Parts: sequence; structure tokens; C-alpha cells
Amino acid sequence: MNLGEFWAPHQGAVSLTFDDGTENQLQLAVPRLDAYGLKGTFYITARGDNWQERLAPWRDVAASGHEIGNHTISHTCSSNYTGNPGLEESSLDAIERDIMIAQERLEQIAPHQKEWTFAYPCYCTHVGRGEGRQSYVPVVARHFMAGRVGGEYGFGNHPAVVDLPAAWGLPTDRMSGFEMIGLAEELTAQGRWVILVFHQINGSRLTVGSHDFETLLRHLQRRSDAIWTAPVVDVARKIAQWQANQ
Ligand SMILES: [Zn+2]
Repeated sequence: MNLGEFWAPHQGAVSLTFDDGTENQLQLAVPRLDAYGLKGTFYITARGDNWQERLAPWRDVAASGHEIGNHTISHTCSSNYTGNPGLEESSLDAIERDIMIAQERLEQIAPHQKEWTFAYPCYCTHVGRGEGRQSYVPVVARHFMAGRVGGEYGFGNHPAVVDLPAAWGLPTDRMSGFEMIGLAEELTAQGRWVILVFHQINGSRLTVGSHDFETLLRHLQRRSDAIWTAPVVDVARKIAQWQANQ
């Protein structure tokens, strides 16, 4: 099978992913996706004693067909970000525990989801430091259909070879709608799977303007014959089937 046959009748795929489960996304991202009939993937951090209360609004989001994904409990990143102990001081056991407690909580708000995907906080995939540094991608591979890491600007995932527990995501911070459309068009024309990463819409950090976001969504809706916009889990499932048959 070649790329054209694999994606047919589409030319490639786009997944719209949103990190950290913020109020901003509930108010500004979800309603716009719904207005354009597009489904996103929301990577939620299930932290805090009040997690049930915090996660409650996402129950409806999950029930309406958006994907809920795992983004750990503690959102531990490299200690290089803050100077405080981080992944360099963590272990594979600790990170696995963190991920699996998050998973128990998230399954309560999206009990219908049978397959799950993961997003590495801060795109970091390691624990330990120096000679003791290890990848925790194998932990994610054991428990999830796919995981999203950082990717190089201008590249998408090649479905025949992408390592699904480490699929590349493309940060969109401060991008114009036209730039996001250009990436989606060019990379899907190459038969790639483009995973766009959003944090906030019209927010204060890692943000994309609501006009730009809407310009992208309008285009994806208009181009739905050629570009398959779908949650990460749906594209990953299709790719896993192809890779298993190669
Ligand atoms: Zn995050």
C-alpha cells in the first residue's frame, strides 16, 4: 500500500490537540470546534485534591465526541525549566505511577473511551540525568495507543514509520491562521499526519488568537474532502493497523 491508498479518499490527516485542560479551552476552544463540526484531543492534567470538581466539565466534552487524553497528574518537566527538582530527579517507576493514577481519574470522566493517548508534559520524554538518563517512552508504549512528543518545525508524521508512542507534535504558539493552514495543506499533501499543539486561545502565554484559530477551523471544515481532521486516537488506530500489516 502507498500513502495515497492509505489515506484515501483524503490526502493526509490533521489532529488538533490542546494541553493542560484549562478553563480557557472550555470557553474558547471547545465551542468553536463544535461550531465547525471538528473533534479535538484534550490532554488533561488530573491534579489536585479537587480533581473531581475540576474534571467535571470535561465529562460533557468527552461525551460529545472529543478525545480526552492523559497528561499525568504532576505535570513534571525538566528541572531546567524552574530550577526545582524535576524529571532529572525522577524515576521510571515514579513517572509510571503518576501516569496510571491520572489514567484512573480520566477514565471516570470518559468511561466510553477504550483506547487512550498521552502527551508528554513540556515535550520531555526522559527521567534521570547524565549516564543514568532513561527514556520513559517505553512506559507510554506499554499503556497507550500513542504518545505526542515535540517535533521539528515543518515536519509531519509519516504513517508507515512513525513510532506511535513518540509521534511528533507541532507547537502553534503565536502562529497566524494562514501559517497553520499552510502547514496543514503542505504536510498533508505529502501524505503526512500533522499534530498541532495548542495551549490557550486569546490567552496570556503559549497562545493563538481566536481569529487565527477560527480561520484554521473554517479551512479544515471547507477542505474536509481532502484533509481528515480527527482526534489523535482515531488516526493512531488507523496507522497502527497499517504498521501491523507491513
Ligand atoms: Zn502541559
